[in-house]
Order: sequence, then structure tokens, then C-alpha cells
Amino acid sequence: MNTNKSKAAFKEAIKHIPGGVNSPVRAFNSVGGNPLFIQSAQGSKITDIDNNEYIDYVGSWGPMILGHAHPDVVEALHRTAENGTSYGAPTLMETQMAELICEMMPSIQSVRMVNSGTEATMSALRLARGYTKRDLVIKFEGCYHGHGDSFLIKAGSGALTFGTPNSPGVTKGTAIDTLTAKYNNLDSVLSLLEQYKDQVAAIILEPVTGNMGVIKPTDHFIKGLRKACTDHGTLLIFDEVMTGFRVAKGGAQELWGITPDLTTMGKIIGGGLPVGAYGGKKEIMDMLAPNGPVYQAGTLSGNPMAMAAGLTTLKLLNTTEGFYEELEEKSAFLAAGLQKNLDELNFPGVINRVGAMFTLFFTSEKEVNTFSDVMKCDTERFAKYFRLGLQGGIYSAPSQFEASFVSIAHSTEDLQKTIDKSREALEQLI
Ligand code: PMP
Repeated sequence: MNTNKSKAAFKEAIKHIPGGVNSPVRAFNSVGGNPLFIQSAQGSKITDIDNNEYIDYVGSWGPMILGHAHPDVVEALHRTAENGTSYGAPTLMETQMAELICEMMPSIQSVRMVNSGTEATMSALRLARGYTKRDLVIKFEGCYHGHGDSFLIKAGSGALTFGTPNSPGVTKGTAIDTLTAKYNNLDSVLSLLEQYKDQVAAIILEPVTGNMGVIKPTDHFIKGLRKACTDHGTLLIFDEVMTGFRVAKGGAQELWGITPDLTTMGKIIGGGLPVGAYGGKKEIMDMLAPNGPVYQAGTLSGNPMAMAAGLTTLKLLNTTEGFYEELEEKSAFLAAGLQKNLDELNFPGVINRVGAMFTLFFTSEKEVNTFSDVMKCDTERFAKYFRLGLQGGIYSAPSQFEASFVSIAHSTEDLQKTIDKSREALEQLI
């Protein structure tokens, strides 16, 4: 595989872009080599500037559930652009978007659009603090909620991959307001709530984690969080930026039957354009300006292009008969094939999957349910597997601590090729 053009492009990029990338997770530092520069993407495939084609499981880190350049999304963007790309005044599409989000995720009665998942979580936390008149927040080790100061404490995703879970630049004053608990360990939360009685504004979590790899919540943990929040007057915030409209139409909250007080969203609701949103109980959302005193705003919030791509995507998800069943079938087929490879080769590994997101953990543990389980993974082995995957035409996240995403555009042929290439890679690693 020739990637000379990407190599040259990277050399140019690093001259004027820190690390050559506009988001650290795109760098290949932890797996070796330089990132591939992308020329185009179509359906399940992505093509680099050297004209190598890969089956894509990054899907822009989650948004591309319909596959790349879906004709309806492209058409909606063309149509919208011709009428101007931003007005800074309300549009009908914003109301339609809000109505659809509320319909698909019934815990949400009122929703505010922003421009990224980071903005969504930062704003939701400010709102929770304003509403409860409390300062502290509990987050979980290995969970990532964007790069807001309050969340860069024991954070996952790139912060974990690059060894900076507690980022310099976050003031001590901010850091002391963030308490960290252990995911899937309810006692670690209950003891913090007792210790800081009446001081915790919110508990925020990825209800299914993706940013330390995929981990499911136990029923005991997630139901216990809901009860503890209610008991303590603390708001429960589900960060469904990744899981929303992916693991089920109504997100992880639908699968586990939990009603969070606030939900943060992003990725899929922008259909590949920059977007975020947060919403929840009307009584809480009404604390926001201009109705209430908690301030949050945005020049490009509810931007027509993002609304056009997002609305088109959400409408398809909401109305296509059997969409989530088909996505589940594809994802289950892939995971079963990968599992069969592990079993037949007696290769140590664990596959965690919820709907169309999964992680293959390189570990000798039997299960991966906690952050400390994740930390036992063999990242060297992952790096080799990743590089072999690329050579075989499979593009996945360049880190062990991430999820892979299946889209509706992945064909059975794509999935079978992925299973076969994975087997070849495992055989070479033995
Ligand atoms: N929350 C979660 C759960 C995420 O996965 C991410 C991004 N991967 C974010 C928040 C931040 O979103 P963004 O990158 O759009 O700021």
C-alpha cells in the first residue's frame, strides 16, 4: 500500500497545524506512522489522497450512520446552500428538529441546539448548576464529554490515548469542582454523594461508554444512579453524543428504560455537519436565557446547513421501516464473525458491542466492564492489529480506547471482508 502522498501532506500540515491535525484523535502517534489524508468518502468506503480505498468504521467518529454522502443528505445541503447558509434568526427547520428530537427521545421536552458535543456538555453542566444552585459534578473515570475544562479530569478518548486525562490549563479551582467515580461501581458514587451532601449539581456519564472503548452499564449501576440522583436532588445527565440515535432510535436511555433529567447530543443529529444539542425537562430548560438567568448562546447555533443534514438524517432514521433492526443485524453479523476468529484461533480478546458500536479489546481478561479492565489491554498488540487492518483495507480508530461504528451502508460483503482481514491480522499476531 502506497501512502506517499499522505506522508508528504503530513509533513506540510505539521508546519502550521499543531501535530498536523485539528483533533488529536486523528493522529497516529499511539499506533505509529502518520494519519491518512482523506480525499473522499462514499457509503461505507473512505478513500485517501493516494487513492487507497478502505472500509470505514470511524464514520467521522459516529455521525455517519447512513454512510458517507447519502444522496438525500447531499441534496438537502445543496438545496439549503442555495438559499443562504446562515441568518442568525429562527428558521422552521429548527422547530422541526426540536420536535423530532423530542419525539425520538421522549425524556426531552425542550431542546437547545449548539455547535458541538463539547458545547452541549459544557452548557448542560452550567444549566444543572444554575438550576440546582450547587457547584460540584460527578463524572466517571475514562468517560469523555468533550474538552470543556470541567470534564478534562480523568478523561477518556484522545485525552487517555495521549496520556493527558488531566489536562494542564484547567485551573485548580475548576478541577476541585469535578469529582470522579468509577464506572459500573455504584458504591463509588454513593459515597461521594454522602461525603458532599447537597453539593452535587449533576452526575454526567456516557450511558454506554465509547471513549474508553465500548462498555455496557450494569442494570444495578444505571438504575442505582437514577435513584441516587432523585434521592439527592442531583440532576442525571446522559451524555448521548455518541450513543444517541445509534444504539437505538431513542438512544441508551431507551434501551435501559431510564429517564435522565438532561441529555446531551451531537454527531448523528448533524448528519456530518458541526452540531450539538442539549435538552430535557421543560422546567429545567426554561432556566435558559432568554426565559431564565442561565446564559448560553451561539452565532451559528441551529445553522441551516447543519439542520438540513441533521434533519434529513433523523427523519430517515425515524421513518425507515426496520432501520434499527437491519443495523443490529449487520452489527451482530460482524461481531459474531470477529468472535468466531478469536475462538477458533484461541486468541485472547473481548468484543463488547451495543447496537452499531463495538470494541475489540486486546486483553486476556474474560470480560471488560470497568476502566481498570480497559487499562489491562495490550496497546502494542492493538497497534499492530490496527496497522495490519489498514494494509488489508480496513479503516478504524487509531486507538484501543475507542469504538468502531457500523453504518447502514456497510454491505454483507464489506462485513465479511472485515472478518476475513481481521482473521489474517490475528494469525500474523500469533
Ligand atoms: N461526549 C461524548 C460522549 C463524545 O463521544 C464526544 C466526542 N467524541 C463529545 C462529548 C464531544 O463532542 P465534540 O467532539 O463534538 O465536541
